[in-house]
Amino acid sequence: MKVTRIAYFTGLNAGKYAALVEQARRLGRIRSEVWQRYGSIGGVGSGLRDRQVRDHWLADGTHVRFGVLANAWKETVRDAMADIGANLASAKVQVRRAINRRTNDPVERKRMLAALIADRWASDPFLARQMRKHWKRGRNRTHDQIVVRADRHHTVTDPRGRLWLAVPGLERRKMVKIPLSSTVAPTGTLRLILRGGRVEVHYQIDASQMRSSQRPCGDRTIGVDKGYSEALTDSDGGRHGTRLGELLAGESDRLKERNRRRAKLRSIANTASLRGDHAKALRIRSHNLGTVKRDRQAARHRARVRTEISTAVHGVVDKAAIVVAEDLTRSFAGRKRLGKNVNRRLAAWTKGVTAEALTSVSERRGSALVRVNAAYTSQACHRCGRLGRRSGDRFHCTWCGVVWQADVNAAINILQRAGDPDIALHTPHHAVRQILQDRTDRHRTRLPVQDSIPAIAERRANHPNRSAMSNQ
Ligand SMILES: [Zn+2]
Repeated sequence: MKVTRIAYFTGLNAGKYAALVEQARRLGRIRSEVWQRYGSIGGVGSGLRDRQVRDHWLADGTHVRFGVLANAWKETVRDAMADIGANLASAKVQVRRAINRRTNDPVERKRMLAALIADRWASDPFLARQMRKHWKRGRNRTHDQIVVRADRHHTVTDPRGRLWLAVPGLERRKMVKIPLSSTVAPTGTLRLILRGGRVEVHYQIDASQMRSSQRPCGDRTIGVDKGYSEALTDSDGGRHGTRLGELLAGESDRLKERNRRRAKLRSIANTASLRGDHAKALRIRSHNLGTVKRDRQAARHRARVRTEISTAVHGVVDKAAIVVAEDLTRSFAGRKRLGKNVNRRLAAWTKGVTAEALTSVSERRGSALVRVNAAYTSQACHRCGRLGRRSGDRFHCTWCGVVWQADVNAAINILQRAGDPDIALHTPHHAVRQILQDRTDRHRTRLPVQDSIPAIAERRANHPNRSAMSNQ
């Protein structure tokens, strides 16, 4: 298993940096061309491979007009094709769900899934319609990256013991040397990202080399509930990643305040340019409304949240051989609908980070991750299964008369879902409610009838009296 490492380089001289930026800009045009030509049903959607595109470009001379070295454009084509592939794969996840909704016939399902995987969906009317619906045509937005193949870069040590990374420039045999701030040389294929005057080098290392990967996992089965103030609460009542809420709330406040200030400055700049004071408008735009500092702060915040969530997941895996969790990969499609609401956007993003961390840490440390249907796990009592009332961080079961910690109750419910004979991962929400209802009804009919008048018995069932509550 591979994990991405990022090394940052600052203090590169302006000329060298400009040359790299120019190279990335030209490669960005190649990416756009690839998206435009092959980013649809006729291209990657029909199973086209990057090697075929390369041969095609070499034959018709497309590559010449971009003015970059051969290896740079070939790697860029490969990378852009992979991006399109990822875009296609995410559409297929949606279509897979549509198939499951459309038919219960296992043979028909299998046929459609096979056609989908092998990119033979265009000839099936239902699949073609679904793909058109879910595969939104994308475009390239990357103009600041250079992909360097493993055999095209090397590091050198200068007499003072400093490490330099040498990557190809725009001219043959003229390498650009970048001073490294670390003593570890990046390896494998590199992705250089040029942002705000510095170079980020992204590369992958084998996770088995990492210290955290060598820590063994636990031996128990643990359910986890994802939260906002804590990253995870487990079914033992343990809390992991307790600083998450603070981090998110702080960021949310900071973003709201910053957006307010920027809006004000923008309106001052607009007024100035309406008045004809273009110098002032320009000054505000370049000094106060830039994106360098903003992007850097955002990256720092993201890194902090990732660390907090990763630590939380490690804490759970320390005691678990099997981690049972909600399927957090669902409902990502709704991200666009979140609009401008800062809190909801942060929460949706955090959910994705948690899903990633659960998968990667489990894989690295050898624990199993079981994804379950989490419908009603935060609203049902883990002891009697009835739906109760949740207020803030407390859950109140009117039947048992007990107040639980809401997230601990949810984590226990999630744990129990792993062995649930009726509720499968994709059982619809309303069906889950019905199953829960049927179970408690069955339970209720087994109880001795305490009162001969049915109406009173019914009322008692729905509203347990005070003495029952105080017994708990
Ligand atoms: Zn209960």
